[in-house]
Amino acid sequence: MAHLDAVVVGAGFSGLYMMHLLRQRGLSALGIEAGHDVGGTWYWNRYPGARCDSESLSYSYSFVPEIDFDWHWPERYSEQPEILGYIGHVATRLDLRRSFVFGTRVTTATYDEARDLWTVGTDRGDRLTARFLVMATGCLSIPNRPAIDGIERFRGESLHTGLWPHDGVDFTGRRVAVIGTGSTAIQSVPRIAGQARELFVFQRTANHCVPAQNHPMDPEAERAYKARYGELREQARHSFAGDVVPELYITIMDLSDQELERELDRTWAQGGFYTQYPYIDLFTDRAANERVAAYSRARIRERVNDPGTAALLSARDHPFGTKRLCADTFYFEAFNEDHVRLVDLRATPIRAIDESGIATSERHYEVDAIVYATGFDAMTGALTTVDIRGREGARLRDVWAGGPVNFIGLAVAGFPNLFTVTGPGSPSVLCNMVSAIEQHVEWIDRCLDWMGARGATCIEATAEAQAAWVDEVNTAAHATLFPEANSWYMGANIPGKARVFLPYVDGLKTYRDRCDAVAGDGYAGFVVS
Ligand code: FAD
Ligand code: NAP
Repeated sequence: MAHLDAVVVGAGFSGLYMMHLLRQRGLSALGIEAGHDVGGTWYWNRYPGARCDSESLSYSYSFVPEIDFDWHWPERYSEQPEILGYIGHVATRLDLRRSFVFGTRVTTATYDEARDLWTVGTDRGDRLTARFLVMATGCLSIPNRPAIDGIERFRGESLHTGLWPHDGVDFTGRRVAVIGTGSTAIQSVPRIAGQARELFVFQRTANHCVPAQNHPMDPEAERAYKARYGELREQARHSFAGDVVPELYITIMDLSDQELERELDRTWAQGGFYTQYPYIDLFTDRAANERVAAYSRARIRERVNDPGTAALLSARDHPFGTKRLCADTFYFEAFNEDHVRLVDLRATPIRAIDESGIATSERHYEVDAIVYATGFDAMTGALTTVDIRGREGARLRDVWAGGPVNFIGLAVAGFPNLFTVTGPGSPSVLCNMVSAIEQHVEWIDRCLDWMGARGATCIEATAEAQAAWVDEVNTAAHATLFPEANSWYMGANIPGKARVFLPYVDGLKTYRDRCDAVAGDGYAGFVVS
């Protein structure tokens, strides 16, 4: 059985950077990745229209500026092949692939108290031991397959957007069903509509959506960004959202109707998440939030010809932005096409799937392909699907049955030397995630350095520090409107999952300061031995 200083699980943005730093530190490390190459999210999510909605210029590593200077992103928001190409290029330049085994899934990880080691098992029967275990397994990496009666009986093509075939899918001339209307469906529906003979979009909940306003990269913007690269990256690292965006400065409730309309016209024209950044009371004041939601519904009415369809596409059951905001390009216009139909699952729920299609309470939809754009077991799924056992054989899955508990999103009491990159209780999915990932990976690296310098071999969060952190995360979330939504942030998309707000809501800057204070205080909240 091989023995290593560290095992890193996952070869997305997180695992690759972690591996780079471990190697630089001279530690022996092996990475294990279920996919057949690097890329993580961007390896798996190859559905039509898949792209980031963070600005391309800042959705990349900051620790290899020389790569960024040479790199050209063709669009404001990059498509999946561009991002995968970038990650692959970084892996090649830093020769990272040689430290990973691919096509291998970690299934078990058991802490041996006597030897202070983790034993890691895989689906290919490998077993290896390591002092440290870094779970860089992603927040959105376990696809959610809905439990619909008869789903396995369908004889046409079944596709999950998070497990898309690598050679693409041609929908030309076919009848297609898309189930789900989150960010993924909103990106893929216009593309699928461009090919399909008939497209049925099955909507359970309308989502709040802003126009992406994607466009070819402006050469002047690119030049200006690169000229101030170091300064802008530093600003992003110490910002609320991990990106160079306006900080909060406008109180919606201070504005008259005309002033607010002018203001929202401005942010709508900028597109993307500029709509949520500047507003102090957007996520804390129901009335302020509703004014933005009403503006948004009016924009949908302008874009969708049929008033009934426009009304159905308008989110009403949760405050604006409290489910992950979606960014669209011609999503709403797709419903003006004769061959695209919205199916309202609130009025006519799915009863079953059979050999030839989908039966709702109203009728049967005969289709050739079903696209499940049904999301992920987010934030905890990739950790709880592995059988992780800490002290006294305690299973992480059981410890987290009532919702995840940990200290600063990075470590769990009872699970020594286990680190979770972008774990629950950290800002992660509420930020530009590459910034959040870099902060976590660098914190872990500094911690290992500090331990090495003291000859320490074991670090473990205390139960007291963990309880206080969980309390802080919950208190922060409940000071906002976020817990009102049945979102994946709340675990509400997975039947039986505990209803707990998963990310840390107070932003990357505050969070980074808290993590730095823990380290600066000799890893206060941890027992180091
Ligand atoms: P991932 O990229 O998810 O990588 C984790 C890897 O771990 C996966 O390859 C997985 O196969 C592997 N893995 C998991 N469990 C195991 C196991 N048991 N054994 C072996 N391997 C395992 N974020 C943004 O900030 N901006 C965006 O615009 C944005 N757009 C997105 C678009 C889509 C379609 C999706 C799904 C997510 C998007 N995200 C975005 C979030 C995105 O997940 C992160 O930005 C980032 O790519 C996460 O990197 P990661 O390495 O932490 O995780
Ligand atoms: P999602 O936001 O969780 O959306 C899943 C959709 O499927 C929802 O509309 C949900 O309805 C529906 N659904 C789930 N189970 C269903 C069932 N049994 N019957 C009917 N409908 C069902 O997932 P996603 O769209 O894949 O996005 C996940 C996250 O990935 C995003 O929030 C974002 O963070 C990231 N992402 C980002 C981008 C980007 O633009 N950069 C693109 C794609 C994804 P309910 O709402 O009713 O549950």
